[in-house]
Amino acid sequence: MPIDILVSEVGPRDGLQSIDSIMPLEAKKSWISAEAAAGVSEIEVGSFVPAKLLPQLADTAEVVAHARTLPGLTVAVLVPNLRGAQAALAAGAHKITIPLSVSETHSLKNVRRTHVQMLEETRAIAALIRSVPAANRPKFEGGLSTAFGCTLEGPIPADRVVELGVALMEAGCDEVGLSDTTGYANPAQVKDLVTRVRAAVGEGAFAGLHLHNTRGLGLANVLAGLEVDVTTFDSSLGGLGGCPFAPGASGNIVTEDLVFLLESMGLRTGIDLSRLLAVRRIVAEAVPGEELYGFTPDAGLPLGFQPATQEVDAA
Ligand code: ZN
Repeated sequence: MPIDILVSEVGPRDGLQSIDSIMPLEAKKSWISAEAAAGVSEIEVGSFVPAKLLPQLADTAEVVAHARTLPGLTVAVLVPNLRGAQAALAAGAHKITIPLSVSETHSLKNVRRTHVQMLEETRAIAALIRSVPAANRPKFEGGLSTAFGCTLEGPIPADRVVELGVALMEAGCDEVGLSDTTGYANPAQVKDLVTRVRAAVGEGAFAGLHLHNTRGLGLANVLAGLEVDVTTFDSSLGGLGGCPFAPGASGNIVTEDLVFLLESMGLRTGIDLSRLLAVRRIVAEAVPGEELYGFTPDAGLPLGFQPATQEVDAA
């Protein structure tokens, strides 16, 4: 089924790493299966980091193994270093993302590495991936985090973002994406930075946008991205994870609201919104007490709603 916009679900990674509850493996599998069945075609299912640091994601290898059995699903993971990439390759992930914090202060705090060290790590991972037979090679993305501002450094110069985007490509990434890790982005900035980074890395090498809704601008930033032809957006079911800085605000933009926005504008996501809304129950039951966000799930679909994605057998 042709789609216009790729919605990449990151809840099982970004959402789960931000909450204290540990979701049982079986629930993660049910969540991922149900979302794939609703038409979500790319899911970031976990992160290969030491279990000591993120016990919530300690079972990522098993989650990848399950997700790989789902037809048509791109199984993505996050890795902070070469060791994580080795585990990701062994597990059979289809896509590997290494985050590079444009704020070096954030990078040092988050992964205890400078930009130079992270770029070295990126080169090592690229070499490892090239050693795999071409047919089994995962896609390798560099994720420029804190690209729109940093809670430690404040404003991040756009030139620095562009420079590091180019450096990631030179280090062997297939593409680079922009992450508003801190929810600092505004629509004008989104258009400007996407345009600049894409011009520097090349048309086909811009991966997409990872947006947070910390200050309520998440969907406005999506619209800005659409206006400069961004075709991939990350989001999290129920905005799971919340935002430690803004009580009542979701962390990642909410997948259900994103799909509603896109489908109501006539952009096909390939996702059945009714089926997607039903997936929330699995997540709610698996991590009781964790808040789920989203306007569309609360309000329901409008009477006579006509999604752009029509069911195959309804046509
Ligand atoms: Zn995030």
